[in-house]
Amino acid sequence: MGAPPAGCENDRVPEQPDRGDRPARLAYLDHAATTPLRPAARDAMLPWLGERFGNPSGDHRVARGARQAVDEARDVVADVVGCRPGDVVFTSGGTEADNMAVRGVYAARPGPVLSSAIEHDAVRNPVDLVGGTTVAVDIRGVLDLEALDDALTPDVTLLALMSANNEVGVVQPVADAVELVRRRAPGAAVHTDAVQAAGWLDLRATIAGVDLVAVSSHKVGGPQGVGALIAKSGTPLRPLLLGGGQERELRSGTHNVAGIVGMAAAFHAAAAERDATAARVGGLRDRLADGLLAAIPDAVRTGGGAGVPRLPGTLHLCIPGVESEALLFLLDESGICASAASACASGAHQASHVLAAMGVGPELGAGALRLSLGWSSADADVDHALRVIPAAVGRLRAAQDRRPEPAGRP
Ligand code: PLP
Repeated sequence: MGAPPAGCENDRVPEQPDRGDRPARLAYLDHAATTPLRPAARDAMLPWLGERFGNPSGDHRVARGARQAVDEARDVVADVVGCRPGDVVFTSGGTEADNMAVRGVYAARPGPVLSSAIEHDAVRNPVDLVGGTTVAVDIRGVLDLEALDDALTPDVTLLALMSANNEVGVVQPVADAVELVRRRAPGAAVHTDAVQAAGWLDLRATIAGVDLVAVSSHKVGGPQGVGALIAKSGTPLRPLLLGGGQERELRSGTHNVAGIVGMAAAFHAAAAERDATAARVGGLRDRLADGLLAAIPDAVRTGGGAGVPRLPGTLHLCIPGVESEALLFLLDESGICASAASACASGAHQASHVLAAMGVGPELGAGALRLSLGWSSADADVDHALRVIPAAVGRLRAAQDRRPEPAGRP
C-alpha cells in the first residue's frame, strides 16, 4: 500500500503484517471484498478489547457503560445513513441483514418476492429459498425498469434491489424502482442492500424511500463480523434468531460491543471524508482504467457507461484469452491483491451470475478481473498495477500461443 490518503482523520495506514512471503511491493486492490481497518475504528474499539467490557442488557454500572456505548454507536450510524436510531438493528454483518430482510418479510407476509438478477448471494440465496423471481438487468448492469413493471403484481410482498453491485460497481435506480413498487404493489416492502454503496454514496434520499437497508462495517473501514439492518418501524418483519430479543425483539444475541463501536467510528469517518475520498479514489480508478485499456486494447470494461454511474472505487474488466484464475495467481505473486468476482467461501471461481445476467458470454467472462480501490489506496498502488497487470496478461497470452494445437484440429 502507498502513502496515507489525504483528508482522513487520524491518517495512518495500518502496518502490513510481515508474512514472510511478501513481495517487494503490495497493492491492495480488493476493497470490495474487505477494507483495512480505519485508525479511527481501531482507536474506538481498543478500550472495548481491553479495560472496558460489559453486557449491555445488564442492570449495573458496567453493563450500563456498555449499553451507553451501543446507544451512542446507534445514534452515529442512524445519523450517517439518515434514519431514526430506533430503526437500526445491529447484526453480525451484511449477510445476516440481507437474510433478515428477505426471510423476515416473507415470514411475516408470505407472497411473491422479486429481486434483481445481480444481487449478492446474501440476497440471492434467501430469495431462492422463498421461491422468489429475478428481474432482468440490461447490458450495462442496470435493472430493467420495464421488466420490473411487468413483474409487479398487487400481491408482491418484497422487492430486493441492491444500491450498487459488488462485482461491476454499477449504481442501481432504486428511487425509480420504489416509485414503481408504490404504484403497482402498494403493500410491498422494498429492501436495498447498500453494503457496497454505503462507503461511497450519500444514501439519505434512497434510504428515505425504502423500508429496509443492509449495511456492513468491514466494507467501510470498520471491523468484520458486524453490520446492521435498517428496518423502518411498521415494516412487517419476523426475527431470524430467537433468544433474548436484544434488538427490538428482531435480533437476539449479546451485542458485539467492540464491533458496534468500531463500525460507528468507521461510518462516521467515511461520511466525514466521503466527497473528498470519492473524488480522490475516483481519479485513481480512472487513471488505472485508462492505463490498462491503453496497454490491453482488447480488454472490455464491464458495466456502466453512457450516463450510468459506477462506484468510484470499482474497475471491472474482461480480458479476452486470459483465465481469471491464472491471472490472479500471477498478480498475487507480484503483490497485486485483486479478485475475479465476489469473494466466496470456497475460493472456487465459478461463472459469475452478474456477468451472465448482463449478457457477457462465458468465454469473455472467464477473463474477469475486479480491481477495487478504497480509502487506503494511493498513487503508488495504481503505478504498481499498471506495471504488473499488462505484463502478466502478456505472459499468459504468450504461454497460450505456445500451447500445442489440440489433436484433430487442422
Ligand atoms: N451484500 C453485498 C453487496 C456484498 O458485497 C457483501 C459482501 O461482499 C455482502 C452483502 C455480505 O456482507 P458481509 O460480508 O458483511 O456478510
